[in-house]
Formats: sequence, structure tokens, C-alpha cells
Amino acid sequence: MRVAIEEAKRSLVAGGTPLAAIMVKDGKVIAVGHAQVGKLRDPTAHGEAECIKIAVKALNSLDLAGCTMYSTVETCSMCLSCGAWSGLTKVVFGAFKEDIVGNPYEFKNYHAIEHVKNLQVPWTSENIEIIGGVLKKDCAELMKNFKNWAPN
Ligand SMILES: [Zn+2]
Repeated sequence: MRVAIEEAKRSLVAGGTPLAAIMVKDGKVIAVGHAQVGKLRDPTAHGEAECIKIAVKALNSLDLAGCTMYSTVETCSMCLSCGAWSGLTKVVFGAFKEDIVGNPYEFKNYHAIEHVKNLQVPWTSENIEIIGGVLKKDCAELMKNFKNWAPN
């Protein structure tokens, strides 16, 4: 998670959103994702979705079994579903959506983690494991006073 936090800080310095996701397999970081929604004019380009796309290419496989994704913020319904469809083993995130004022990256009154953790894609018998609140205070601090959610 500390690596993801450093990546989030790097994203902010580069003019992006201060959040990041990293993918780890066998103790090595194989992908880093930053939100690209505004830059790419792509509503699906959340940091976690970008991380998943990069990881799949790095492994040259659609199967992310054995991988853990660390995200500085609570992973949204779209990105968690993408993780489930890619067979991702575990998602660990920092700040819950309620910890971030003005967070637009999840539906109101909805917590995807309660739904996605029970989903099983047809080709696996494993459910995605989701753990939230890791270094929550540090991750929430990154987003404090941040308002430009879709930087140009
Ligand atoms: Zn997302």
C-alpha cells in the first residue's frame, strides 16, 4: 500500500488525480494504474481499471489469479467487476468512499464490495477477496481538499 501511496503522490505532481493502484504478483509490482478519465476522455479509465489492463498485458494473460491489487481508494463497482472477471485473487484498498469528500467514483448509497465479493465468474471456483481500510488515514489524506476529479 505504501508503494500505491507514493504512486498517488506522483500522479498529483504530474497534474493527475492523487490516487493509484498497483498490481502485485509473487511479491513483485507488475502494473501501476493512475486515473486517466479526463486525459483520455474515457469514463472507464479509473486507476484500478488501468492497472488491471496493464497487468493483463504484462502477464500476456486474461487470468490474474494469484495477483493482489492495492488501491489507495475504495474500488468502485466497475473496477471490482473487472477484477472479478479477470480472476483477480485479492483487492486491498485504503480509504473508504465515505472518507473522501466529494468522491464521484461510486454510485450513491451503494457499496460494491458487498455485492462483488459474492460473485463467481463461470470458470473459477474462487471468490475475489476484498480488504478495506489499510493505511486508511494516509490514503484519505491524499484526497483531502482535492476537487478536480477529471483533470484535463
Ligand atoms: Zn473504478
